[in-house]
Amino acid sequence: MQKKRYWIIGTILFIFILASIFGEVENDAANNHTNENNIENVEENNNDNELENNEEEDNESQQEEDNNNNENDANNKENQATKDEDREMDKAKDDKLTNLEAHFIDVGQADATLFQFQDGGETYNILFDAGDWNRNDVVNYLKAHSISSLDLVIISHPHADHIGQLDSIMEQFSVGEVWMSGNSATSQTFQRAAEAVLNSDASYEEPRAGDVYDVGSLTLEVLHPSSLTGGLNEDSISIRFSYGNIAFILTGDAYKENERAMMNRGDVQADVLQLGHHGSNTSTDASFLKAVNPSIAIYSAGANNSYGHPHEEVVSTVQNQSVELYGTDVHGTIVVTTDGNSLKVATQQDGTISPKSTGSSQKSNSKSSAANKQSTTNSSSENTQTTSNCIDINSASYDEIQEIIHIGPARAEDLIDLRPFKSIDDLTRINGIGPARIDDIKAEGKACVGG
Ligand SMILES: [Zn+2]
Repeated sequence: MQKKRYWIIGTILFIFILASIFGEVENDAANNHTNENNIENVEENNNDNELENNEEEDNESQQEEDNNNNENDANNKENQATKDEDREMDKAKDDKLTNLEAHFIDVGQADATLFQFQDGGETYNILFDAGDWNRNDVVNYLKAHSISSLDLVIISHPHADHIGQLDSIMEQFSVGEVWMSGNSATSQTFQRAAEAVLNSDASYEEPRAGDVYDVGSLTLEVLHPSSLTGGLNEDSISIRFSYGNIAFILTGDAYKENERAMMNRGDVQADVLQLGHHGSNTSTDASFLKAVNPSIAIYSAGANNSYGHPHEEVVSTVQNQSVELYGTDVHGTIVVTTDGNSLKVATQQDGTISPKSTGSSQKSNSKSSAANKQSTTNSSSENTQTTSNCIDINSASYDEIQEIIHIGPARAEDLIDLRPFKSIDDLTRINGIGPARIDDIKAEGKACVGG
């Protein structure tokens, strides 16, 4: 009797265990199914991150990160090898490619690039960066081109001139997937954008160097970052888009040191290069430009922007390498069309880009900008008087700010991005400016705070 009861209890337990195992398998299958997506990751070392996971990630030890990087680098090299073979095999397929259009949209002092192509009777739309926060030109441009859905939106980094209209885009278009670097910003623009992504049905990824994705017949190789440093510009997502035998590289606002890191990770050749950081001299390292070896370079910048973009040394570097140069400030929206073998460029406006000035005339440039400033503040002559004796950190030009001790080109850009400042002490919000440097700035006496 006793034995029989144990046998029955044992059998019931066994059935329970079996049922729970099968239940889990079924759940997994369901999860996998919902995770299926148009965007196919053809790479193994992809990070399946979600916004909510950021904190967990941050807690990972440095040692682990280093190991991952080494692994990534090794994987990249392996991939490059198989990629080259694949490319050969793809050549036969290239004949069938329809035209791809890359629209470098004129969005003022900001970035927004639309890739559009057809594959298998379907139209694919990919947006790289979402323009400035205080405009709606990206949204309007997409609507004017009868676009209602975007397969993928990539935000290079969370500054307001790149993530600007993401919230409106998430609300007004059907978005399949969003990629971000994983860095966050304190701005309301970023907060609104992050909420809009979380509230949408879009998948979310934080891609890392070495990841390779296929979207229809377009291949996206992630060139940067391999891990986050916390510097928003420095960690810009950088992508090599290849379509048949033609490649485009976009690097957001990544700096020269980041460009050199990309070169060291693998192949960066491309036919079209978007100049990093709106043509700023923080970017477009001469060795990087040589390695990319583009036939066309494009920068996105607003006419007469306060940063002086594109910087003349960058324009010279590009033109000295006989690269055709286009800029949205001069040409308006620039559309590059390719069939996978050749390129055509169409611009909204005609124009030529020439270095604005060289050495000696640079001084007259900054003089004229000072004169402009005086004329605009003429209404309050007292104000003009007080600010003319010092460099107003809230209104001085990019060149003027660099006369302040410890402020070089990169920090001048950060400073303009972070305006307004309440006090000189408030300059500690700039990466690399601590209390000791604040003391130096105060002792120098050049910097002051205006409205
Ligand atoms: Zn920018």
